[in-house]
Amino acid sequence: MSDDNIIPIGTQMPDMLSEAAPRLSLPVFEAGWVWLVGAGPGDPGLLTLHALHALRSADVVVYDALVDETVLEFANPRARLEYSGKRGGKPSPKQRDISAKLVELARKGLRVLRLKGGDPFVFGRGGEEALALVDAGIPFRIVPGVTAGIGGLGYAGIPVTHRDVNHAVTFITGHMAGGAVPENLDWPSIAKGSPVLVLYMALSHLATISDLLISNGRLASEPVALVRNATLASQEVLETTLGTAAADVAAVGFKAPAIIVIGEVVRLRQSLDWLGALEGRILKSDPLGTRSEKDVI
Ligand code: SAH
Repeated sequence: MSDDNIIPIGTQMPDMLSEAAPRLSLPVFEAGWVWLVGAGPGDPGLLTLHALHALRSADVVVYDALVDETVLEFANPRARLEYSGKRGGKPSPKQRDISAKLVELARKGLRVLRLKGGDPFVFGRGGEEALALVDAGIPFRIVPGVTAGIGGLGYAGIPVTHRDVNHAVTFITGHMAGGAVPENLDWPSIAKGSPVLVLYMALSHLATISDLLISNGRLASEPVALVRNATLASQEVLETTLGTAAADVAAVGFKAPAIIVIGEVVRLRQSLDWLGALEGRILKSDPLGTRSEKDVI
């Protein structure tokens, strides 16, 4: 591809977007509104057109720790960027304070973009913030994003459902508001009922969660994958098993943020690691050993 074909980030692209806005029926970002927008897991290519349009139109962007810096480069240069996550060991601002801030900014007549990692309604407290806006009478819009537990795993070559493996998938948070493992979850039912589990915020409790699952009937040999910094250039994948996951994480010093997937779908990565293939990994055929001759093209 010649350089002429490459669209520089943050320049022509948003202009093309404003030209195309009427044809795309992109809504006008009105003053005094709050848009709760998912930024996806990191790769800016996974931003939706609505998210890009919001970034170009906002007066103020209130963003979380998991929003990648590159995504912020798309913001309108006149927009004020306000960080609302944890920084420098200081405790993160209270959820109540963030909601109050959104209300205050909107009441000033600003276009307020509340930008969250992944999808705002998946373990992202987007619902809580939207409820506060309703109470304050502030108009709002929700822009869904690509969630780490689906799109992030896609970048590791792991589909969350696959016809030969599972017809259900469960998304779980490994962390309660206070930091403990969610013990009020029905772990026996989860262990028995859901063939694939996708865990958010679970790295620090992986040992406890693995033990709970194994003591409720899951096999210690069940495949597990952890994806760190999913969709970013710094993405790392650790493939392990339920019985050895916690020890392997400790041994290699695997760090958050990581999305964890437990289940036979992890085996598909041997065939579907498309990013690995770009770097020369040879993709295997029939990783589950379930395809007959006639299925293989
Ligand atoms: N709303 C977000 C989830 C927020 S909870 C979403 O829909 O994706 C925060 C957790 O999400 C992290 O602890 C991690 O488990 C996961 N996560 C978010 N972005 C990630 C990324 N790029 N790579 C790996 N895990 C990620």
